[in-house]
Amino acid sequence: MTMSVTNGANGAGDAAAMIEMTDVSKVFLTDEIETHALSDVQLRIDEGDFLSIAGPSGCGKSTLLSLLGLLDSPTAGEYLLDGNPVADLSGSQRATIRNRHIGFIFQAFNLIGDLTVYENVELPLTYRGMPSAERRTRVMEALERVGMSHRTKHYPSQLSGGQQQRVAVARAVVGKPSILLADEPTGNLDSKNGHAVMGLLNELHADGATICMVTHDPRYAHQAERLINLFDGQVLSPEDAKKMAEMEESGFDVA
Ligand code: ADP
Ligand code: MG
Repeated sequence: MTMSVTNGANGAGDAAAMIEMTDVSKVFLTDEIETHALSDVQLRIDEGDFLSIAGPSGCGKSTLLSLLGLLDSPTAGEYLLDGNPVADLSGSQRATIRNRHIGFIFQAFNLIGDLTVYENVELPLTYRGMPSAERRTRVMEALERVGMSHRTKHYPSQLSGGQQQRVAVARAVVGKPSILLADEPTGNLDSKNGHAVMGLLNELHADGATICMVTHDPRYAHQAERLINLFDGQVLSPEDAKKMAEMEESGFDVA
């Protein structure tokens, strides 16, 4: 699924990137301390990509994902979404894009505790004002896809972590978003459940989903088609990333 925005300025054969970031920086100001979370990031994501972002704790991975997901804005640089500058969007336009085109998966699942599994997955569709019969079809389809259709009436606290994350994946895909953004989706799971969630993401990608995933688990990072290494808010060149990996292997703690 695309956002159906065509960019007439593109030359023949050079399709518009779904996402294009140019010289994007993010500075946080707290108590007069400046944190340069991201510096001059260049990033392109095309439809159907499976991109993984890796790097030590604090290097800016979550910040980058929240910019990509329109949860926050860059301090500098340009972000084009389907060829359109995100900076020009109003707050409500951003909310609509988040709801219709972006599916989020978080490390801590972030399900709403006093809603059932069914209601959690239904919520993004409710916000859209979709009729309830259509919502039901979509919710059940998404829950079946993640193997959780037998738990519709359960509350998150009655589920294991692996099950909660599967429900969170259903919530992320129920609206058929253009891109899935996953921030350490296996970070709170044991390896069996982590594998199951990665298996789901791989299946979704095989069916055409565009995925951008943050992970510090090298086993999972390498399952993606493309790996970007962040360090101190900067995207490392492949050569520097290799050096960093060798340093890590030799026991040097880069984090
Ligand atoms: P990662 O996800 O790679 O662990 P983050 O993107 O969360 O890293 O953070 C990058 C840097 O930006 C860190 O130094 C962090 O402390 C800082 N940071 C992140 N969010 C904020 C915020 N809202 N206010 C101030 N500093 C922040
Ligand atoms: Mg993070």
